[in-house]
Amino acid sequence: MMNITDLIQKSRGGNVLSRDEIVYLLGLPVDCEDTFRIMAEAVRVSREVSGGKAEVHAQFAVNLAPCSCECMFCSFAKTNNVFTSAMEITPEQAVAHALQFEKEGANAIYMMTTAMYPFGKLIEIGKEVRAHLKPETVLVANIGDQNFEDAQRLKDAGFAGVYHALRLREGTDTKISPEKRKESIRNFKEAGLVVGTCVEPVGPEHTNEELADKIIFTASFDPAYSGAARRIPIPGTRMAQLGSISELRMAQIVAVTRLGMPRSVIGNCTHEPCTLGAIGGANFFWAEVGANPRDIKEKTEEGRGESVASCGTLFKESAWDIWEGPSRFFKK
Ligand code: SF4
Repeated sequence: MMNITDLIQKSRGGNVLSRDEIVYLLGLPVDCEDTFRIMAEAVRVSREVSGGKAEVHAQFAVNLAPCSCECMFCSFAKTNNVFTSAMEITPEQAVAHALQFEKEGANAIYMMTTAMYPFGKLIEIGKEVRAHLKPETVLVANIGDQNFEDAQRLKDAGFAGVYHALRLREGTDTKISPEKRKESIRNFKEAGLVVGTCVEPVGPEHTNEELADKIIFTASFDPAYSGAARRIPIPGTRMAQLGSISELRMAQIVAVTRLGMPRSVIGNCTHEPCTLGAIGGANFFWAEVGANPRDIKEKTEEGRGESVASCGTLFKESAWDIWEGPSRFFKK
């Protein structure tokens, strides 16, 4: 029988929990005292590694298009039939979004595209955006799988890193092979890009063992950050029928994820942003503008998306201060 006090002691000694310990903690009732103790320890570690300062990163979408990768949880998946036509923003609009985020104090700025967006175009727009930002502003790409040469081109264009995840049930709930996702992560890292990642998108059907394996996978490549994000049901889709986990369950998974990461991983994310996540050890939220794979609105700022300011408010409500300046997560 495992003992929570022992596991907390183990974490306090700077140690990463084992797979068995992670599975055990994920199996505790979400509303029991032991879970709250784990959340308290996770937020303690998150504060320790980030000097008590949370970060807010902001993403804008470069395009919106029905995507043939068919990730069943994504509103861009062709068969989900949410968006039937494609659109993309101009380089001028991209620059305007990025400058707005910089002005609002986002600690990093992300450019997102769907998997099929022409890579050459992304590089062109990325260079244009980079040229307009302050040199110290951190620029990150959230795009499809890439080979080593394209990863190098991203680095050369001035991106500090990428967001990339091996999603839950990759290859089953998506048409992308898990190996391809892993290969891209290796390519990005080899090209000198720092990779941020997450255990996502968590639904009620995922077992504690599956979650533990993903937590351990994210820890295995020393990312900028890990974390946990729940699946948001896209109305009318098959996956929506599976429902969603509660915010408290998500906070529990976020907390356990923190205890499954080495201290060299500073960031711990949850999405969508919420105070329960922040008190469970999330020290990092995303603001979003434009298309969003969890929304059915073309402009998520009019839908589910949070702003830099509202993310800051959620942290303040959770007694977190905000880091001012370029993200520390990508300095690896
Ligand atoms: S998550 Fe990305 S790759 Fe998958 S369907 Fe959506 S846009 Fe395409």
